[in-house]
Amino acid sequence: MHVIRFLLLLILTPIPVLAQNYPDHREIYVNDFADLLSEEVEDDIRDRLKVLRDETGIEFTVVTIYQMRDYGHAGALEPFATGLFNDWGIGDAERNDGVMMLVSLWDRKVRLEVGSGYGARMNDPMQKVIDDDILPHFRNDAYEEGILNGVDHTILAVTGAWPGEYDASPWVKVTNAIGRTVNSVVQGLGNWIFAILVALLPFPYRAYRRWKRNHPRICPNDGHQMTRLDESWEDNHLQKGQITEEDLKSVDYDVWECPTCQHITVEGYRAWFSSYSVCRNCGYRTVEGDTTILEHATTSSTGRKRIDYHCHNCGDAYSVERIIPKESSSSSSGGSFGGGSSSGGGASGSW
Ligand SMILES: [Zn+2]
Ligand SMILES: [Zn+2]
Repeated sequence: MHVIRFLLLLILTPIPVLAQNYPDHREIYVNDFADLLSEEVEDDIRDRLKVLRDETGIEFTVVTIYQMRDYGHAGALEPFATGLFNDWGIGDAERNDGVMMLVSLWDRKVRLEVGSGYGARMNDPMQKVIDDDILPHFRNDAYEEGILNGVDHTILAVTGAWPGEYDASPWVKVTNAIGRTVNSVVQGLGNWIFAILVALLPFPYRAYRRWKRNHPRICPNDGHQMTRLDESWEDNHLQKGQITEEDLKSVDYDVWECPTCQHITVEGYRAWFSSYSVCRNCGYRTVEGDTTILEHATTSSTGRKRIDYHCHNCGDAYSVERIIPKESSSSSSGGSFGGGSSSGGGASGSW
């Protein structure tokens, strides 16, 4: 009898279905749910996107998430991106000129989704931005650089002008352009040499990096092969701060020892997911910050927040106060979008 009741219960209990949902936006410019951006870079991007919106009316939002699965989505990025774009209503409702950069970290996918007002004419330019300006940085785990560079080039592709130059004088445009060319030549040289190095290697970059970390080191004193100590022996050769960094997983250390002369080499590898920052007192990546909102921003006044920093290594503690920018729209929940929609235009890439 009990068995039947149990079976009935099993049958009647609803099976949880993966329900598709979307995150709520925090604001209309930067929604860094995956915490890929430092506060400085986030402010920088926000400034550019705010000027873009104020000067041209175009709403451009940057979104980072850990993975689509967190929102009950399995499969391709494109339908998720279009769904999110339309759920938030990015862009002007009549012009449909919104733009969204969506980075899904663990899926290793990025998309530039544009409003339906662009038709298909932005697909190729967006693909070029992804391939040339974003993915090369992402492949080096340089997410901030990739996002920042992608934002600039997307703005250029959409408006024909660099951020902040929408009605700058031709002279300003020219001097800025010269500065950028010098920069990109210097950067380009570096990339070029790097590209040759990678092309010469018979295996892909990831394998190269694994090899770079794991191949035996040669002792600088006597040329013998050094061996890597395992975790339990490592700590004897690490500073207290380095051990704290390892415990917090903000930096991972390898300790190499020469079996002949006992020469020690310590190599640190910074984790790129870590939320810890460098301590101003002891210099280790062991500082955690807690943010408290002191005064919420409104559409007419800025707000204030306090960040309490605390070092897990030396105990240093200090607080800073920061201004929260004014809300840009009438809604109090970080502004709201114009109600635009997308019919799936844009481009995607993975790394
Ligand atoms: Zn040696
Ligand atoms: Zn410290």
